Amino acid sequence: MRAIISDIHGNLEALESVLADIKDRGVTEIYCLGDIVGYGPNPRECVDLVRQSCAQVILGNHDQGALFDPEGFNAGAERAIFWTRSVLETGAGSEERWEFLGELPRIIKEPNRLFVHGSARNPLNEYVFPEDIYNQRKMERIFSLVEKHCFQGHTHIPGVFTEDMNFLPPEEVNFEYDLGDQKCLVNVGSVGQPRNGVPDSSYVILDGEHITFRRVPYDVEVTANKIYAIPDLDNFLGDRLRDGR
Ligand code: ZN
Repeated sequence: MRAIISDIHGNLEALESVLADIKDRGVTEIYCLGDIVGYGPNPRECVDLVRQSCAQVILGNHDQGALFDPEGFNAGAERAIFWTRSVLETGAGSEERWEFLGELPRIIKEPNRLFVHGSARNPLNEYVFPEDIYNQRKMERIFSLVEKHCFQGHTHIPGVFTEDMNFLPPEEVNFEYDLGDQKCLVNVGSVGQPRNGVPDSSYVILDGEHITFRRVPYDVEVTANKIYAIPDLDNFLGDRLRDGR
């Protein structure tokens, strides 16, 4: 049984709550689909915890932005990335953290399963939003690159994309879904910055061919207050955690 988490974004309270939830469920391996850092106040702690807890980790666009030159980010996100980089570059253990991030793969391929941050077509940067089900060309192209089931993050919106162009949010399938023979893309949602209108963290449990969407509350106020105390992190980054947007 595996847990698949993504988009932690330096939110330690959320990551700790999710790891505690995972611990109770008989999970043997945790996969992380990237964006360990960026936006949030605890990049070092989150990198360390992911390194300790996860069997497989993929590079996200914010991890890449912190490591190299950030490209394609808005002003607030870019400022957060430069702040994140300055934190990761200093303090005890910085070399090990830097090395760990620098060696992360962009894709993990297993029989019938693909793991990416963004999409099968552009693993680091492409968003697959729920409304993309109306963009047949885009979805057909992406599905053509997926052998069977693709697990992804990046949009922070959990749900299942089916090959017949449906998007199923967790609520619509009672938080359970059988992968079965049809191709599908599973977005596992975000641990540290949910954008599905619910402040709780999201992740997925994969048990054979069955997935369960998990929702885990954490102390949002603690994280928001840490963000407000750091001038380089926009207050909006704290505000948005309260509404999950
Ligand atoms: Zn992200």
